[in-house]
Amino acid sequence: MLNYVKPVTFMKEDAYWIRDQVKQHTKWFEESLPMIASENIMSPLAKEMMISDFHDRYAEGLPGKRYYQGNIYVDKVELKCLELARKIFKAQFVDVRPISGTVANIAVLFALTQPGDKIATPELASGAHISTAPFGAVGLRGLKSVHYPWDYKNWNLDVDATIKFLQKEKPKVAQFGLSVFLFPTPIKELQDALQEAGCTVWYDAAHVLGLIAGGKFQDPLSEGVDIMSGSTHKTFPGPNHGILIGNGLKEGVEAKLQKAAFPGVTSSHHLHAMAALAVTLAEYEIYGKKYARQIIKNAKALGSALYDMGIDVVCPHLGFTESHTLAIDVVKYGGGAQVALDLERANIIVNKNMLPGDTSSIRPSGIRVGTQELTRLGMEKGEMEEVARLIYRVVVKKEDPEVVKKDVWELKREYTKVRYCINDGEEAYKYHELV
Ligand SMILES: *Cc1c(COP(=O)(O)O)cnc(C)c1O
Repeated sequence: MLNYVKPVTFMKEDAYWIRDQVKQHTKWFEESLPMIASENIMSPLAKEMMISDFHDRYAEGLPGKRYYQGNIYVDKVELKCLELARKIFKAQFVDVRPISGTVANIAVLFALTQPGDKIATPELASGAHISTAPFGAVGLRGLKSVHYPWDYKNWNLDVDATIKFLQKEKPKVAQFGLSVFLFPTPIKELQDALQEAGCTVWYDAAHVLGLIAGGKFQDPLSEGVDIMSGSTHKTFPGPNHGILIGNGLKEGVEAKLQKAAFPGVTSSHHLHAMAALAVTLAEYEIYGKKYARQIIKNAKALGSALYDMGIDVVCPHLGFTESHTLAIDVVKYGGGAQVALDLERANIIVNKNMLPGDTSSIRPSGIRVGTQELTRLGMEKGEMEEVARLIYRVVVKKEDPEVVKKDVWELKREYTKVRYCINDGEEAYKYHELV
């Protein structure tokens, strides 16, 4: 380890205070049940990459064609990263330079559209992400957005109405993918209509990238999607980063996407995260299928346990979910904002979420819950049933969260190690002491 100097003067107090807050946060999460559907924890080996010297360097351009010197090993790692991603996603085109899912989305918009073009997206209240909302990246690019007709009962787009909608609207780009992504998008069923309308088909896989990489949920590229963007830190348990993946792209589109990635939306592309992504991809080749399968099993088990306790998990007629996510209507228990706050007091971390028909994102009727992180810590069906009971005690029984918190820790203390990775069993919340 590096030789850090011990604090000697008060001038350093702020810096140490900040570090102390981060340590307290880490301890809090060790004692908590983290169930935000967009989060995950990295493997010890991937985490090591994040504090490596890669972080301190720049690399612009593509491996072998850099603008800076000093990239001999960076190039080797990036080529390996691309090779692993092509293999896992069965794709010809991969770019690992966008530094987040939103940045990947901006690169797609930059490459495929001109200001004034028409884009079809799901609506926010249908579970879409802010980056594809008119006040997000789509608006930033000056696009005109139209929204798919939605089937709220089945938490998916309405296929028949969408076929007619595509014939009428003929958007330049048809974008799919959600932040409350319960069921696969029926792309195969829409493929003819999409082709007739002449749309470029873009699938935002931010939430479900790890499921897709594990051969679950759906395989967008084989179903007719041209370009897939994603975050690499949600169900895919890598670093906070982004990725672009494509197959059979039209002449010139790959080059446009690469130019959009750099110099369009990045300068250096966070080499430490790129290396951590490469490590996670390598580990995923071994453990990904098993992990993805267990995430979905756990989500279904949690959904049905909560439902059996009288809690309104959406879509019981469809088995609640085919992904890592559950959407739960908690209106009768005080609404999403209050329930999420009560659960936080018991160290169960979830977020409030809009449900169909909601107009306020501040006071929505639902919460969103994800099983990807608890799965990564080794939890299975039995533990999901225990988690459901803890949620029930806070949400329905209105038990004192401080009391429930103790039982949360009783359960969680057995699940503080990272699974589905090479150093299986290492502490997930290990804090690297520098001083
Ligand atoms: C989370 C999310 C993003 C953005 O990802 P970041 O990596 O946080 O920038 C984009 N699209 C969807 C559908 C998401 O859920």
